[in-house]
This record gives sequence, C-alpha cells and structure tokens, in this order.
Amino acid sequence: MNYEFKVTKTLSPKQKPDPDTLEFGKVFSDHMFVMNYTEGKGWHDGRVVPYAPITLDPAAAVLHYAQEMFEGLKAYKTKEGKILLFRPDMNAKRTTKTNDRICIPALDEELFVEAIKAVVRVDADWVPEKEGTSLYIRPFIIATEPFLGVRSAKEYLFMVILSPVGAYYKGGLAPTKIFVEDEYVRAAHGGTGYSKIGGNYVAGLKSQEKAHDKGYSQVLWLDGTERKYVEEIGTSNAFFVIDGEVITAPLEGTILPGITRDSVIHLLKDWGITVSERRLTIDEVYEAYDSGKLSEVFASGTAAVISPVGELCWKERKIQIHDGEIGELSQKLYDVLSGIQLGNVEDKFGWTV
Ligand code: PMP
Repeated sequence: MNYEFKVTKTLSPKQKPDPDTLEFGKVFSDHMFVMNYTEGKGWHDGRVVPYAPITLDPAAAVLHYAQEMFEGLKAYKTKEGKILLFRPDMNAKRTTKTNDRICIPALDEELFVEAIKAVVRVDADWVPEKEGTSLYIRPFIIATEPFLGVRSAKEYLFMVILSPVGAYYKGGLAPTKIFVEDEYVRAAHGGTGYSKIGGNYVAGLKSQEKAHDKGYSQVLWLDGTERKYVEEIGTSNAFFVIDGEVITAPLEGTILPGITRDSVIHLLKDWGITVSERRLTIDEVYEAYDSGKLSEVFASGTAAVISPVGELCWKERKIQIHDGEIGELSQKLYDVLSGIQLGNVEDKFGWTV
C-alpha cells in the first residue's frame, strides 16, 4: 500500500544539541507523527506536524486507567550518510500483540512502519552522526476519550516522537552490578508482562530505586509465582552462559519478547552455539558459579544492545561474573549487532531497512 501523510513543516527549527553531551530522551526533534482513532471511522488523518505539546481532556481515559502502549527503536546514520532502521517490522508486530492485550484497536503493521519512516525522513538531519549516537524513536498510543467508566476507549492518538541520543557506552562496554529482586515482582502468568505498556514500567520503579539505593544499576527479575526462575534484567532480556550453553527465559507471557533478544538468538545459532529458551532457576545460576561453569551473564535491549553483567547479588550473596570483566560472547554480540545496525557488518538476515 502507498501511505501518503500530510506534512506540515515547522517555521522555527530548533538548534541541534551538541552530540558530545547528548543524554537519553531529553531532547526532541522538530517534528512528530500524529494519527487519530475514532470509533466508526478507524485510524485516520495520519500527519507529520511540528513537535508541540498536546491538549488532553482531564477525563481522558489514559490519565485514569492507563490505557497506553509504547515502542522503542533507533535510526542510525551510516558512514555513507544513509539512515537505517533495525527490524521495525518486529516493533509493528509487538504493537499488534500489545494493543490486543489492552484493548487498543489494531493498527496496520505496514502503516506503523510507514509512519516512522515519514517522520524520520522529515527529521533526517536529526539523526546524529557521531560514533555511538542514534535517533531514538518512540511510537506510542494513548486513549483520549473523555470518559470515566472502566472500558476500552473509543478515541485514541497514535504518535511518534524522535530523540537524538548519545552513545550508551562512552568508553567501550562496561559490566554492570545487578541486584536479584526477591520481594517485588514485575509480571505474572496471565498478566501483561509480554506487552509494552506504561503500567509495567511504573510497577517496576520501586524495585529499581531500591537497587539504586543499594549501589546496583538494575534488578534481575524473578518469576512472579515462585520467585525462583530468572526472567529479565531491568528493561532488557537476560542471558546466562553455563557450560557453553546460552540460556534465556522462554516467551511464556511474562517477559517482553525483545527484538535484540531475538537477534541474539539468531546470531548465536548461526555461529553454532547452543541456545536454550528455557526456565532457569537462580539456584542453578549460583550452582553454576560455584562449580566454575557460569562464564557470562548479559542483558540485551535496544538502548545498550548488549550489557555485560559483572556482579550479581542475591540474598546478600555477591558473585563476580567473569571476574567482573566483559565476556567474549558479550563483546562479539555487541560488535556484530551494532555493526549490522550501522551498516558496517554484512546484514545477512536482512534486518536493516
Ligand atoms: N524487556 C523489557 C521489559 C523492555 O522494556 C525492553 C526494551 N524494549 C526489552 C526487554 C528489550 O527489548 P528490545 O530488544 O526490543 O529493545
């Protein structure tokens, strides 16, 4: 299908930020994509307009019952000046699943990708060039209908905003310290863990703050039923390398199906490495450490690509993974994945757009 969106350009372009001091998610580009949903009419009036605040009725459903979803992906500038998106079709598919879970009307997956392309094209000069920087893309949908009854809304806004972001790692990969959370839980079977809704993130704040107070950068979430199985690390997927086998939690509804996770699994299999999507207890992780078989732990996600874990703390017991240094597999996955995203490594899976 050919999607044509009306474009209204800003008359007062903003000054671009200094690429050396860019932080995550603080500065926004000149334009945004907006599209409305009205019951009976469906999704309509997709458009690119100058970035600006929006007005909402104080009774808008999103403000009361949190009917809201979001996505996250990045645009990268290659050495030749081309702009690449990484697997945006996967974000579109995940949006379909999220929308279904919280009763937001389905959005055509091709339209989702075309909307992103449309606004990124208009703000192409906002994709920073400096090594490690990128343009973070945040599509989201909110329920705007002014109504205080508890039911799915009849009016929504789909928007895409863009934020130039700095290099996640200033001086190469840096291992993190992770606190194993055994008090709060992130998700339960039958819940919303697999969907990308704001509610999942606000529910994790308390735990994140507790970990920060204890000097840890993130938490390792355990399952919500038995607090036994390892699930995710903060807002990223978790991988454990035990005796040459790479293990990650299965997609059983409680973890977010990360696009980086899927890419890591593809790459590892392609390299002939055994990958298992299976339940793994935190006990097993510690036993593997004690027997010298735990060689690496790392997290995967759009923000950092790969984030090696240098220390775990569970019930006061701290263990140093790979002597607190970056593991070989973490480094190789990071180099290859970020190389593909930047167009420096052959994209044999056809992931970039
Ligand atoms: N888990 C959670 C809870 C997340 O928020 C994210 C970031 N979107 C991920 C995992 C990693 O997903 P992705 O690789 O698609 O960024």
